[in-house]
Amino acid sequence: MKIEKNKKMKAQLFYGPGDIRFEETDIPRIGPGEALVKIKSALTCGSDLKTYKRGHPTMIVKGSVFGHEWAGDIVELGKGVKDFAIGDRVVAANSVPCFKCYYCKLERYSMCENIVYNNGAYAEYIKIPANILPINTLKIPKHLEYKQAALTEPLACAVHGIDQSNITEGDIVAVNGAGPIGLFFVALAKLKGAVVISSDLSDERLKVAEELGADHIVNATEVDDQVEAVRALTTGGRGVDVAIEATGFPKVWEMTILMARKGGTVNLFGGCASGTSITIDTQLLHYNELTIKGVYHLTPYYFRKAFKLMEKGLFDTLKFITSDMPLEKLADALELMGEQKGIKYNITN
Ligand SMILES: [Zn+2]
Ligand SMILES: [Zn+2]
Repeated sequence: MKIEKNKKMKAQLFYGPGDIRFEETDIPRIGPGEALVKIKSALTCGSDLKTYKRGHPTMIVKGSVFGHEWAGDIVELGKGVKDFAIGDRVVAANSVPCFKCYYCKLERYSMCENIVYNNGAYAEYIKIPANILPINTLKIPKHLEYKQAALTEPLACAVHGIDQSNITEGDIVAVNGAGPIGLFFVALAKLKGAVVISSDLSDERLKVAEELGADHIVNATEVDDQVEAVRALTTGGRGVDVAIEATGFPKVWEMTILMARKGGTVNLFGGCASGTSITIDTQLLHYNELTIKGVYHLTPYYFRKAFKLMEKGLFDTLKFITSDMPLEKLADALELMGEQKGIKYNITN
């Protein structure tokens, strides 16, 4: 299939905070080594919600397409593409490292200085650029639905996070936040053989955490002191072996640090608003020998790892999709996300 020149597509365009418009725009033109995909599933994500509410400093400019978790069918290929064919069902990551810079040479690909991002999932079509196509694009097996495959990118971020959290069998792991990323952490920590404590403000989300195997749940609105409530679930209140933050609020970062036992690991995963900071008790960090770390984004390795987990059905990925919504109703889906209702919405064309 060849897309006619000047043919338009429907898309949700970002004009400013709270202002997205369902309009016609140009179908992306592809060049050598690139692919054009008809989108079958685009998932809502916390970072899209942030873009919708506050805008994005660099990535999303006025009048541009956004959304970055998607899966679909290849409908057009540029010259020189060998490993893909028209009709392939594919999922691609929203970024690719350069493999040339200082950090890529250190194999710290999530910190690549020239990382290239690809946005535009809330549309009928998206282009896979020539650098992402060979490195970070995977073919979807028949038994996986598009919406499951579209989870690969956020799941890859969580797999990266869990891999950096020093979890061993039998560890007690606290996961703060039961949004999509927090819930992935719950499922992945269970696969690692951990006892998991999931905390959140929403009973609806905590119920999903339980279904994914959380051993204990803490609704932060129902306890006086969230840190104490979590510590009380450990022997003698000594604290958890590993504490993971997945909300992106500085207050919760601070509470997460206070949940860890002596010698424990704290993974501050949720990205906070720029300009924010936290306070840590220096004595606590020193005498308790805490390991506190930040983990960001994904790498080609974790993209494949996440895809493998999904392909093998190691946990129920359909639990992450609350419901389907048509593309024109995107704002409604993002508003529901803002009210902490549901996990992810599957935006369909
Ligand atoms: Zn995302
Ligand atoms: Zn690089």
